[in-house]
Amino acid sequence: MNQNKLFRLTRIRLALYYVVVMGLILSLCAFGFYRAVFHAHVVALDNEIESVTGTLHDSLELKLQQPGILEPIAQQLFPNINDCSAAVTCTQKPLDSKRHFLGIVTKNNYYVRFFDTSGRLIATAGDYPQGLPTIFNSQIWQFIQDNKGKEYHQISVELHTQNHQNWGYMQVGRSLEEFNSYLDSVKLSLILGLPLAMFMIAIASWWLAGLAMQPIYQSYRQIQQFTADVAHELRTPLAATGATVESALLMPQLAEEETRDILQTIYRQHRRLTSLVADLLMLARLDKQPIKQQELCCLNEIVSDLIEEFAAMATSVGVTLKSIIRVQQPLNIIGNSDQLYRLISNLIVNAVQYTPTGGEVTVFLKKSDSFAIIKVQDTGIGIPKHELPHIFDRFYRVNSDRSRRTGGSGLGLAIVQAIVALHKGELDVESELGKGSTFTVKLPLDVTPLKRKPSISLLKNWYRHSYQLLRVWLADFF
Ligand code: ADP
Repeated sequence: MNQNKLFRLTRIRLALYYVVVMGLILSLCAFGFYRAVFHAHVVALDNEIESVTGTLHDSLELKLQQPGILEPIAQQLFPNINDCSAAVTCTQKPLDSKRHFLGIVTKNNYYVRFFDTSGRLIATAGDYPQGLPTIFNSQIWQFIQDNKGKEYHQISVELHTQNHQNWGYMQVGRSLEEFNSYLDSVKLSLILGLPLAMFMIAIASWWLAGLAMQPIYQSYRQIQQFTADVAHELRTPLAATGATVESALLMPQLAEEETRDILQTIYRQHRRLTSLVADLLMLARLDKQPIKQQELCCLNEIVSDLIEEFAAMATSVGVTLKSIIRVQQPLNIIGNSDQLYRLISNLIVNAVQYTPTGGEVTVFLKKSDSFAIIKVQDTGIGIPKHELPHIFDRFYRVNSDRSRRTGGSGLGLAIVQAIVALHKGELDVESELGKGSTFTVKLPLDVTPLKRKPSISLLKNWYRHSYQLLRVWLADFF
């Protein structure tokens, strides 16, 4: 499948997952919100009914004398009380708003009804709805419906006479019409709001999926670029070798000197390939963090070793190579000595390579707080300002032709950067075209007071490095 299509499909899939997950979360939140509103209103409603009932109960109980008989005081308390004890059907008198003793009962939606101890309806008052079931239910809280399906919420309390006899029951209730219509409006706004929110989430998801895909896309592009660069780098020596062999095969006879020349060309290209593959392997290994073999490495020794190692090479091209070590005590860091050798040698080799005859390369070593500072300074050709941000990129060369002449692959500084990062250090470069460059490496010092001996592999590595680097460099130069 085309990679761009794959990325697009992955982005769509990711956005869809976001939408589904966010949709579910949002729906749950909406449901929770609705339940919370519902609960808060039911609690408020219950409190209101309870307090009305309490007031009525207290005002009435003091006056009741005989069970099941409403005293005249009830007429004063409930302006439109309707005595149903003798009637078959109980029709409610309309409310007279001017005549009321307990204002709450005249409030719209509230009704009161009285039952005797046998559960027979005695009287009704307030905004009593027609068609409410008259069968007495002794449950304290009830939700009931009239014959039109309208809902009511009511409370039942017992009443007692002055001499503590059971008088009967009082039920206070109210219509839930207002409450239900409020809940319906909440429900409607949630139902309408959800698709709108989902639409906004879909847009945000698309954008977020794009953001999430960006690093993957970028690293894919980098890998693509890297593969193309590697192929390009490998092709050059392979093509040179192929052409040399081809032309040699076309010759009817080869003199010994010609054969030697051809073999030397092939060998040079072989070395180029070997060093390129070695660099690539090193970079691949450096990418796999963290450092495997950690040891105590003495930077003073590494710098002195490398100065000694490259002195001959520098002299051969007319460059003075020296070191200025401004520390009394050895600067030790915990790291990988192989990698540290490689780090500093890459910087020194570059400095010597890019410094014309008569120039100078100085390696400084000093301490700053808990860091070791290594500076490789040259009086060479320098690097243009606009090229500085790119010189650490893999295969990047400031000037391909110029660099190719030196046999560089453009991986040297990428390796330096990777090693510095693995050692939790910092890398900086300052350069002025035509005047020279300074590469500064800052590495955290080992601050543990452990008395460890510098690894013996340091010396072994030094020989190995010196030998390899010298061979490659000298072969390229002469
Ligand atoms: P190369 O193997 O080509 O030297 P590097 O990664 O080591 O690759 O360096 C990248 C580029 O940075 C080189 O092409 C070179 O032009 C430039 N460069 C590196 N070090 C120096 C230096 N000391 N002076 C001038 N240019 C340098």
